[in-house]
Amino acid sequence: MKVLKFGGTSVGSAQRMREVAKLITDGEQKIVVLSAMSGTTNTLVEISDYLYKKNPEGANEIINKLEAKYKRHVDELYTTEEYKLRAAEVVRSHFNYIRSYTKDLFTLFEEKVVLAQGELISTAMVNYYLQEQGVKSALIPALEFMRTDKNAEPDPVYIKEKLRAQLDLQPEAEIYITQGFICRNAYGEIDNLQRGGSDYTASLIGAAINASEIQIWTDIDGMHNNDPRVVDHTEPVRHLHFEEAAELAYFGAKILHPTCIQPAKYANIPVRLLNTMDPTAPGTMISNDTEKGKIKAVAAKDNITAIKIKSSRMLLAHGFLRKVFEIFESYQTSIDMICTSEVGVSVTIDNTKHLNEILDDLKKYGTVTVDSDMCIICVVGDLDWENVGFEARALDAMRDIPVRMISFGGSNYNISFLIRENDKKIALQALSDNLFRVK
Ligand code: ADP
Ligand code: ASP
Ligand code: MG
Repeated sequence: MKVLKFGGTSVGSAQRMREVAKLITDGEQKIVVLSAMSGTTNTLVEISDYLYKKNPEGANEIINKLEAKYKRHVDELYTTEEYKLRAAEVVRSHFNYIRSYTKDLFTLFEEKVVLAQGELISTAMVNYYLQEQGVKSALIPALEFMRTDKNAEPDPVYIKEKLRAQLDLQPEAEIYITQGFICRNAYGEIDNLQRGGSDYTASLIGAAINASEIQIWTDIDGMHNNDPRVVDHTEPVRHLHFEEAAELAYFGAKILHPTCIQPAKYANIPVRLLNTMDPTAPGTMISNDTEKGKIKAVAAKDNITAIKIKSSRMLLAHGFLRKVFEIFESYQTSIDMICTSEVGVSVTIDNTKHLNEILDDLKKYGTVTVDSDMCIICVVGDLDWENVGFEARALDAMRDIPVRMISFGGSNYNISFLIRENDKKIALQALSDNLFRVK
């Protein structure tokens, strides 16, 4: 069985819900994970914000506006009076439920309940729509099987057992619809898998039922081999290794968060990224297969700051790097790239909130230099060190560009360059020409 996840943008309007319904009704039994309609989770966060600030009036105004929007969606989505009434009733009850939280103390627990309503409504709407169309669709409530443990990590044993039980309750269903994102925690309270968590839900379900494939449907094309906004002639990437996808995740290529696909990776289930706007396009397949000797993609990340700490004390000393890293850690600033020499170390950060304090502390250990407005360029592919020629080709593309740092060997799938933000366009184009267009 396959698991298909549709994000908020893919169920963002009545029209889009109809498209999804068309896509999923092919006679094959499947589990469909849905996000809240786009914008809803953000609005629920805003409502919660008013309630935290003890402003029920402000909250109510937004609740009413959101409810009115849903009433219009319902009117547009269904053709029969029967289903219009049923869906309107579900929408009304969820909004009344949200309103009941405007009266009392509002804490983190109540917020989780409010946030859960978006997915509960979108799944009920799509389920009713499918039934109106005569499709054998059944809702399986995520709150009955999706659970985290005491460390707030998903509990795969519980999920597997309870999900199976839910599926067995309705064995004839063709399509099982469930909510992404929402779950219960170890204490049985309503909780969630963090923003964007619907992908995580799909991956956990895929692993739990040993799915043949997990499909993540969104409103854009799968991965491209370079940034189409910057570079001419980009091509879709048809296939990525899980590790390659993880490398790219940092680079704003808003593909799946590595945590979200980990369950699929461990269970060895391929994840396919597909585009709701262009459903016949092959999309991008992410799996544990490596394409030998192939460079897959180039990606860039701006707003990078490089910090160099140079000290003759580093020579032959031990514990120097630990001291340096501890300073970053104490300011909750994560380091991305690292390059070392015998007497110096350069690191990059993308969060400069505590830059001044960090620099102050680093000066205890050496001479400190800072370069801002830098950009990391990352080349991803089969870059196993025993392959020859690939690093040379990447380096050769950078021949006219001042390169501040190079990092290779951290994984088998990556080589990164740190350059000036101003040189990004030329660098990306040069890499594209050198790596992907060589005849
Ligand atoms: P939502 O987060 O609202 O549930 P999606 O998860 O489908 O909906 O997508 C959220 C946003 O992220 C959309 O605006 C979409 O265009 C963008 N997005 C999704 N996948 C990618 C990707 N591979 N590369 C860049 N942007 C993406
Ligand atoms: N609706 C949730 C969010 O917007 C979960 C998701 O879309 O994945 O974060
Ligand atoms: Mg999403």
